[in-house]
Amino acid sequence: MSAISLEEYLSTVKIGPRQYHNKAGILSQTGGFCKTLNAKRVVISGGVKARKSVASALHSSLEKAGIPYVEYEFVGESSIENIEALNALIDSFNADLVIGVGGGKSIDTAKNSADRHNMPIITIPTVAGTCSCSSPLSIEYTNEGIYSRDYYPANNPNIVLVDPELLIHSPIVYLKSGILDSLSKWYEGHESIKGSSNADMFDKMALGISDYLFEQIMEKAEDAILANKAGKINEAFTDILNQIFFVTGVIQALGVKAVRNGIAHSVHNGLTVLPESHHLTHGEKVGYGILVQLLLREGESDTYKEYLSLCKKIDYSPLMEAMGLHIQQLEIHKIAEKVVSDPLMKRKPFDAIKSEDFEKIIKRIENVQG
Ligand SMILES: [Zn+2]
Repeated sequence: MSAISLEEYLSTVKIGPRQYHNKAGILSQTGGFCKTLNAKRVVISGGVKARKSVASALHSSLEKAGIPYVEYEFVGESSIENIEALNALIDSFNADLVIGVGGGKSIDTAKNSADRHNMPIITIPTVAGTCSCSSPLSIEYTNEGIYSRDYYPANNPNIVLVDPELLIHSPIVYLKSGILDSLSKWYEGHESIKGSSNADMFDKMALGISDYLFEQIMEKAEDAILANKAGKINEAFTDILNQIFFVTGVIQALGVKAVRNGIAHSVHNGLTVLPESHHLTHGEKVGYGILVQLLLREGESDTYKEYLSLCKKIDYSPLMEAMGLHIQQLEIHKIAEKVVSDPLMKRKPFDAIKSEDFEKIIKRIENVQG
């Protein structure tokens, strides 16, 4: 096991994946990429649908390169049970490389297992929901989908393969989710760096990059969503994929000390206590967390209004009620308790925020009395 501690994680400067490719048809070169990593036996890990969507290009490329492979059927959460089952397959097949295919939870599981084996990983995102394919972080959940902890792999993924032809046909909810999750880096970064005692030049670089990401998303998100709806790649779509997969991963990697997840992601983690929230994507919950953060920290400011207008443009409504969750006082109390139990909420500058503060804001958003 080569996971590193939080302290080591914070003191190690990482940038992004060693290689990043965004090109139609790139999966047909996977076998060659495996060879550059000296791989001889490979485990492909991903859900049934995700593996099916890449099967013909991926399998024929590996076969052409003479690399034997087996597949792990990922179902459910990035949980210890999934990680251990994948570990067992890696061991029994004597694999020396993992290919993680799918969305955030599936890729997080693959990154986790690869790190525990000290072996390289190639990631192939089949939905644009998060930056998991290039980030140096794997999040563990219980089998029930409740957030349990962050796991810090020693390295970023080695090679990321993005095929826009594949992603243009993926469900729009994931692109929306990826846009919101990426945007959270800007909102959270500017908030968390303020009270941080250990921000350094790398964090400042991450914050600068997050400004660029913010501009790009505000300018291009709507066109990217329209492209996804029409199933036709345009420049905005390609650019937004790069923002979600690469730029966000770089911000995450460079800004670990002070430009890091803050309130919005803690609210996301809080929401996971509700079983009914598990059908929502990561970004839908993070998008809600951005709204909570903005109201908590600055009220109905111009930034808040600008955020709501972006939400409208991408057809996202940051309201639990609109996402099909009818939450009442008791649930709000549970969410708020979970939010403040988050390790990041216990650090400066968030440690003074109380669970009652969250309760108040969520009640206000959802219009719950009492
Ligand atoms: Zn996230």
